Amino acid sequence: MPDIDAIVQEIATEMRHRTDRGEVARYIPELARVDPHQFGLAVILEDGRVAAGGDADQPFSIQSISKVFTLTLALGMAGDDLWTRVGREPSGNPFNSIVQLERERGRPRNPFINAGAIAVTDLIVSGHQPRESLGEILRFMQFLAGDTSIAIDKAVAASERRTGFRNTALANYMKSFGIIDNPVDFTLGVYFHHCAIAMSCRQLAMAGRFLAHSGRNPSTGYSVVSAERARRINALMLTCGHYDGSGDFAYRVGLPGKSGVGGGILAVAPGHASIAVWAPGLDGAGNSHLGRLALERLTKAMGWSIFGV
Ligand code: GLN
Repeated sequence: MPDIDAIVQEIATEMRHRTDRGEVARYIPELARVDPHQFGLAVILEDGRVAAGGDADQPFSIQSISKVFTLTLALGMAGDDLWTRVGREPSGNPFNSIVQLERERGRPRNPFINAGAIAVTDLIVSGHQPRESLGEILRFMQFLAGDTSIAIDKAVAASERRTGFRNTALANYMKSFGIIDNPVDFTLGVYFHHCAIAMSCRQLAMAGRFLAHSGRNPSTGYSVVSAERARRINALMLTCGHYDGSGDFAYRVGLPGKSGVGGGILAVAPGHASIAVWAPGLDGAGNSHLGRLALERLTKAMGWSIFGV
Protein backbone atom coordinates (compact mmCIF):
# COMPACT_ATOMS: atom_id res chain seq x y z
CA MET A 1 0.00 0.00 0.00
CA PRO A 2 1.28 3.53 -0.77
CA ASP A 3 2.65 5.46 2.24
CA ILE A 4 -0.48 7.20 3.53
CA ASP A 5 1.40 9.38 6.04
CA ALA A 6 3.69 10.77 3.36
CA ILE A 7 0.77 11.36 0.98
CA VAL A 8 -1.26 13.22 3.62
CA GLN A 9 1.72 15.42 4.52
CA GLU A 10 2.38 16.18 0.86
CA ILE A 11 -1.24 17.16 0.29
CA ALA A 12 -1.32 19.33 3.44
CA THR A 13 1.83 21.14 2.33
CA GLU A 14 0.51 21.75 -1.16
CA MET A 15 -2.85 23.03 0.10
CA ARG A 16 -1.27 25.31 2.65
CA HIS A 17 0.62 27.11 -0.10
CA ARG A 18 -2.04 27.39 -2.76
CA THR A 19 -3.43 30.82 -3.42
CA ASP A 20 -6.69 29.73 -5.12
CA ARG A 21 -8.66 29.18 -1.94
CA GLY A 22 -12.28 29.95 -2.95
CA GLU A 23 -14.54 32.23 -0.90
CA VAL A 24 -15.79 31.67 2.65
CA ALA A 25 -19.59 31.52 3.06
CA ARG A 26 -20.85 35.07 3.58
CA TYR A 27 -24.58 34.51 4.07
CA ILE A 28 -23.97 33.26 7.62
CA PRO A 29 -22.14 36.24 9.17
CA GLU A 30 -20.29 34.15 11.74
CA LEU A 31 -18.81 31.93 9.01
CA ALA A 32 -17.65 34.96 7.03
CA ARG A 33 -15.14 35.64 9.84
CA VAL A 34 -13.29 32.32 9.47
CA ASP A 35 -9.66 32.54 8.28
CA PRO A 36 -9.55 30.99 4.78
CA HIS A 37 -5.88 30.02 5.11
CA GLN A 38 -6.59 26.99 7.23
CA PHE A 39 -6.48 23.42 5.94
CA GLY A 40 -6.91 20.10 7.71
CA LEU A 41 -7.02 16.47 6.61
CA ALA A 42 -7.57 13.26 8.60
CA VAL A 43 -7.70 9.73 7.20
CA ILE A 44 -8.64 6.79 9.43
CA LEU A 45 -7.84 3.36 8.01
CA GLU A 46 -9.75 0.17 8.71
CA ASP A 47 -7.19 -0.94 11.32
CA GLY A 48 -7.65 2.35 13.19
CA ARG A 49 -4.43 4.01 12.11
CA VAL A 50 -4.83 7.76 11.62
CA ALA A 51 -2.93 9.89 9.11
CA ALA A 52 -3.51 13.56 9.84
CA GLY A 53 -2.08 16.76 8.41
CA GLY A 54 -2.39 20.54 8.72
CA ASP A 55 -5.13 21.82 11.05
CA ALA A 56 -6.68 18.37 11.52
CA ASP A 57 -7.42 19.07 15.19
CA GLN A 58 -8.99 22.49 14.73
CA PRO A 59 -12.80 22.40 15.22
CA PHE A 60 -14.89 23.98 12.44
CA SER A 61 -18.61 24.33 11.73
CA ILE A 62 -19.72 21.04 10.16
CA GLN A 63 -22.90 22.61 8.71
CA SER A 64 -24.48 20.29 6.11
CA ILE A 65 -22.22 17.38 6.96
CA SER A 66 -24.51 16.99 9.98
CA LYS A 67 -27.24 15.97 7.52
CA VAL A 68 -25.61 12.56 7.02
CA PHE A 69 -25.99 11.89 10.73
CA THR A 70 -29.52 13.27 11.09
CA LEU A 71 -30.50 11.09 8.12
CA THR A 72 -28.95 8.08 9.87
CA LEU A 73 -30.89 8.86 13.06
CA ALA A 74 -34.17 9.50 11.23
CA LEU A 75 -33.88 6.25 9.28
CA GLY A 76 -33.40 4.51 12.60
CA MET A 77 -36.64 6.05 13.85
CA ALA A 78 -38.88 5.90 10.78
CA GLY A 79 -37.22 3.34 8.52
CA ASP A 80 -38.29 3.49 4.90
CA ASP A 81 -41.36 5.59 5.77
CA LEU A 82 -38.94 8.50 5.64
CA TRP A 83 -39.07 8.30 1.85
CA THR A 84 -42.71 9.33 1.76
CA ARG A 85 -41.54 12.82 2.77
CA VAL A 86 -38.23 13.13 0.97
CA GLY A 87 -36.98 11.84 -2.38
CA ARG A 88 -33.70 10.22 -3.38
CA GLU A 89 -32.80 12.03 -6.58
CA PRO A 90 -30.11 14.63 -7.16
CA SER A 91 -31.68 18.06 -7.41
CA GLY A 92 -29.41 19.68 -9.99
CA ASN A 93 -30.16 22.90 -8.12
CA PRO A 94 -28.33 24.92 -5.45
CA PHE A 95 -28.58 23.65 -1.86
CA ASN A 96 -31.03 26.35 -0.78
CA SER A 97 -33.20 26.41 -3.91
CA ILE A 98 -36.96 26.76 -3.60
CA VAL A 99 -38.12 26.35 -7.24
CA GLN A 100 -38.45 22.55 -7.32
CA LEU A 101 -40.58 22.52 -4.18
CA GLU A 102 -43.51 24.15 -5.90
CA ARG A 103 -43.50 21.80 -8.89
CA GLU A 104 -43.09 18.76 -6.65
CA ARG A 105 -45.76 19.68 -4.12
CA GLY A 106 -43.48 20.44 -1.21
CA ARG A 107 -41.60 17.11 -1.23
CA PRO A 108 -37.86 17.82 -1.35
CA ARG A 109 -35.76 15.94 -3.90
CA ASN A 110 -33.31 14.46 -1.39
CA PRO A 111 -32.33 14.58 2.31
CA PHE A 112 -29.18 16.67 1.72
CA ILE A 113 -30.54 19.83 0.13
CA ASN A 114 -31.69 22.26 2.81
CA ALA A 115 -35.41 21.57 2.31
CA GLY A 116 -34.86 17.81 2.57
CA ALA A 117 -32.67 18.10 5.63
CA ILE A 118 -35.21 20.34 7.35
CA ALA A 119 -37.90 17.71 6.65
CA VAL A 120 -35.60 15.03 8.14
CA THR A 121 -34.97 17.16 11.23
CA ASP A 122 -38.72 17.65 11.59
CA LEU A 123 -39.14 13.89 11.76
CA ILE A 124 -36.55 13.68 14.55
CA VAL A 125 -38.27 16.51 16.45
CA SER A 126 -41.72 14.86 16.37
CA GLY A 127 -42.90 13.76 19.79
CA HIS A 128 -40.05 15.51 21.63
CA GLN A 129 -39.09 18.90 22.91
CA PRO A 130 -36.63 20.59 20.53
CA ARG A 131 -33.97 20.57 23.25
CA GLU A 132 -34.29 16.78 23.68
CA SER A 133 -33.98 16.21 19.94
CA LEU A 134 -30.92 18.39 19.74
CA GLY A 135 -29.40 16.59 22.71
CA GLU A 136 -30.00 13.29 20.97
CA ILE A 137 -28.27 14.45 17.78
CA LEU A 138 -25.30 15.84 19.69
CA ARG A 139 -24.94 12.70 21.82
CA PHE A 140 -25.04 10.58 18.66
CA MET A 141 -22.15 12.59 17.21
CA GLN A 142 -20.20 12.33 20.46
CA PHE A 143 -20.81 8.61 20.63
CA LEU A 144 -19.75 7.99 17.02
CA ALA A 145 -16.62 10.09 17.41
CA GLY A 146 -15.89 8.64 20.87
CA ASP A 147 -15.47 12.16 22.19
CA THR A 148 -17.82 13.88 24.64
CA SER A 149 -16.12 17.24 24.22
CA ILE A 150 -17.88 17.84 20.88
CA ALA A 151 -20.19 20.86 21.23
CA ILE A 152 -22.45 23.25 19.38
CA ASP A 153 -21.05 26.65 18.45
CA LYS A 154 -23.88 28.81 19.79
CA ALA A 155 -22.64 31.96 18.05
CA VAL A 156 -22.88 30.23 14.65
CA ALA A 157 -26.36 28.89 15.43
CA ALA A 158 -27.57 32.34 16.54
CA SER A 159 -26.00 33.97 13.51
CA GLU A 160 -27.82 31.62 11.16
CA ARG A 161 -31.09 31.92 13.03
CA ARG A 162 -30.93 35.71 12.67
CA THR A 163 -30.28 35.56 8.95
CA GLY A 164 -31.89 32.27 7.88
CA PHE A 165 -34.67 33.84 5.83
CA ARG A 166 -34.43 31.34 3.02
CA ASN A 167 -34.54 28.31 5.27
CA THR A 168 -37.53 29.86 7.05
CA ALA A 169 -39.21 30.28 3.67
CA LEU A 170 -38.44 26.66 2.72
CA ALA A 171 -39.82 25.34 6.01
CA ASN A 172 -43.00 27.42 5.82
CA TYR A 173 -43.54 26.42 2.22
CA MET A 174 -43.17 22.71 3.05
CA LYS A 175 -45.50 23.17 6.01
CA SER A 176 -48.18 24.46 3.66
CA PHE A 177 -48.01 21.05 1.92
CA GLY A 178 -48.09 19.11 5.20
CA ILE A 179 -44.46 17.92 4.92
CA ILE A 180 -43.51 19.60 8.22
CA ASP A 181 -45.43 18.40 11.29
CA ASN A 182 -44.00 20.56 14.07
CA PRO A 183 -44.00 24.32 14.58
CA VAL A 184 -41.56 25.72 12.01
CA ASP A 185 -39.61 27.51 14.77
CA PHE A 186 -39.00 24.25 16.64
CA THR A 187 -37.76 22.37 13.61
CA LEU A 188 -35.59 25.23 12.36
CA GLY A 189 -34.14 25.81 15.82
CA VAL A 190 -32.93 22.21 15.93
CA TYR A 191 -31.74 22.37 12.30
CA PHE A 192 -29.67 25.54 12.80
CA HIS A 193 -28.13 24.10 15.95
CA HIS A 194 -27.16 20.72 14.47
CA CYS A 195 -25.58 22.55 11.51
CA ALA A 196 -23.59 24.57 14.07
CA ILE A 197 -21.92 21.52 15.69
CA ALA A 198 -18.17 22.14 15.70
CA MET A 199 -15.82 19.23 15.04
CA SER A 200 -12.26 18.70 13.89
CA CYS A 201 -11.30 16.60 10.87
CA ARG A 202 -10.08 13.89 13.21
CA GLN A 203 -13.39 13.78 15.11
CA LEU A 204 -15.44 13.85 11.94
CA ALA A 205 -13.46 11.08 10.25
CA MET A 206 -13.93 9.04 13.42
CA ALA A 207 -17.69 9.64 13.38
CA GLY A 208 -17.92 8.52 9.73
CA ARG A 209 -16.12 5.21 10.13
CA PHE A 210 -19.29 3.12 10.19
CA LEU A 211 -20.07 4.27 6.65
CA ALA A 212 -16.73 3.00 5.36
CA HIS A 213 -17.07 -0.41 6.99
CA SER A 214 -20.53 -1.82 6.29
CA GLY A 215 -22.27 -0.03 9.15
CA ARG A 216 -19.77 -1.04 11.84
CA ASN A 217 -16.98 0.72 13.65
CA PRO A 218 -14.16 -1.76 12.95
CA SER A 219 -12.22 -0.81 16.10
CA THR A 220 -15.02 -1.17 18.65
CA GLY A 221 -17.03 -3.72 16.65
CA TYR A 222 -20.14 -1.66 17.38
CA SER A 223 -22.76 -1.86 14.65
CA VAL A 224 -24.39 1.54 14.03
CA VAL A 225 -26.58 0.57 11.07
CA SER A 226 -26.96 -2.53 8.87
CA ALA A 227 -24.55 -3.01 5.96
CA GLU A 228 -27.44 -2.39 3.59
CA ARG A 229 -28.32 0.93 5.20
CA ALA A 230 -24.69 2.08 5.17
CA ARG A 231 -24.47 1.25 1.47
CA ARG A 232 -27.62 3.24 0.76
CA ILE A 233 -26.50 6.28 2.75
CA ASN A 234 -23.24 6.17 0.77
CA ALA A 235 -25.22 6.04 -2.48
CA LEU A 236 -27.09 9.18 -1.46
CA MET A 237 -23.85 10.92 -0.52
CA LEU A 238 -22.42 10.08 -3.92
CA THR A 239 -25.41 11.29 -5.91
CA CYS A 240 -26.59 14.22 -3.75
CA GLY A 241 -23.85 15.04 -1.21
CA HIS A 242 -22.44 17.99 -3.14
CA TYR A 243 -25.72 19.45 -4.47
CA ASP A 244 -25.37 20.56 -8.07
CA GLY A 245 -21.65 19.83 -7.81
CA SER A 246 -22.24 16.12 -7.11
CA GLY A 247 -21.50 14.99 -10.66
CA ASP A 248 -18.22 16.85 -10.75
CA PHE A 249 -17.23 15.48 -7.33
CA ALA A 250 -17.93 11.91 -8.49
CA TYR A 251 -15.98 12.56 -11.68
CA ARG A 252 -12.94 14.00 -9.93
CA VAL A 253 -12.87 12.21 -6.56
CA GLY A 254 -15.00 9.11 -7.08
CA LEU A 255 -16.10 8.66 -3.46
CA PRO A 256 -19.35 9.20 -1.56
CA GLY A 257 -18.91 12.57 0.14
CA LYS A 258 -20.88 15.20 2.02
CA SER A 259 -19.87 18.83 2.06
CA GLY A 260 -20.82 21.72 4.32
CA VAL A 261 -20.59 25.48 3.85
CA GLY A 262 -18.13 25.60 6.75
CA GLY A 263 -15.67 24.14 4.20
CA GLY A 264 -15.64 20.57 5.48
CA ILE A 265 -16.13 17.36 3.51
CA LEU A 266 -16.66 13.87 4.92
CA ALA A 267 -15.69 11.24 2.35
CA VAL A 268 -15.98 7.49 2.51
CA ALA A 269 -13.62 5.01 0.81
CA PRO A 270 -15.61 1.80 1.36
CA GLY A 271 -13.50 -0.96 2.91
CA HIS A 272 -10.50 1.37 3.16
CA ALA A 273 -10.96 4.56 5.13
CA SER A 274 -13.06 7.36 6.54
CA ILE A 275 -11.72 10.76 5.49
CA ALA A 276 -12.43 14.33 6.62
CA VAL A 277 -10.97 17.41 5.03
CA TRP A 278 -11.47 21.09 5.81
CA ALA A 279 -10.61 24.24 3.89
CA PRO A 280 -13.06 27.12 4.49
CA GLY A 281 -13.03 28.64 0.97
CA LEU A 282 -15.90 27.44 -1.24
CA ASP A 283 -16.46 27.07 -4.97
CA GLY A 284 -19.52 28.41 -6.80
CA ALA A 285 -21.69 25.45 -5.73
CA GLY A 286 -20.89 25.99 -2.03
CA ASN A 287 -18.45 23.09 -1.72
CA SER A 288 -14.92 23.37 -0.32
CA HIS A 289 -12.59 24.24 -3.19
CA LEU A 290 -9.33 22.94 -1.75
CA GLY A 291 -11.13 20.17 0.13
CA ARG A 292 -12.23 18.69 -3.16
CA LEU A 293 -8.79 19.11 -4.69
CA ALA A 294 -7.15 17.44 -1.68
CA LEU A 295 -9.53 14.46 -1.96
CA GLU A 296 -8.83 14.23 -5.67
CA ARG A 297 -5.10 13.97 -4.91
CA LEU A 298 -5.69 11.46 -2.11
CA THR A 299 -7.97 9.05 -3.98
CA LYS A 300 -5.68 9.09 -7.00
CA ALA A 301 -2.57 8.36 -4.92
CA MET A 302 -4.30 5.61 -2.95
CA GLY A 303 -6.34 4.11 -5.81
CA TRP A 304 -9.49 4.50 -3.72
CA SER A 305 -12.04 5.77 -6.26
CA ILE A 306 -15.04 3.43 -6.25
CA PHE A 307 -14.95 3.59 -10.06
CA GLY A 308 -11.50 2.00 -10.41
CA VAL A 309 -7.91 3.19 -10.26
N1 GLN B 1 -26.85 25.63 7.70
C1 GLN B 1 -26.62 25.84 6.29
C2 GLN B 1 -27.88 26.31 5.61
O1 GLN B 1 -28.92 25.85 5.97
C3 GLN B 1 -26.14 24.56 5.69
C4 GLN B 1 -25.87 24.67 4.20
C5 GLN B 1 -24.69 23.88 3.76
O2 GLN B 1 -23.80 23.53 4.53
N2 GLN B 1 -24.62 23.63 2.47
O3 GLN B 1 -27.84 27.12 4.71
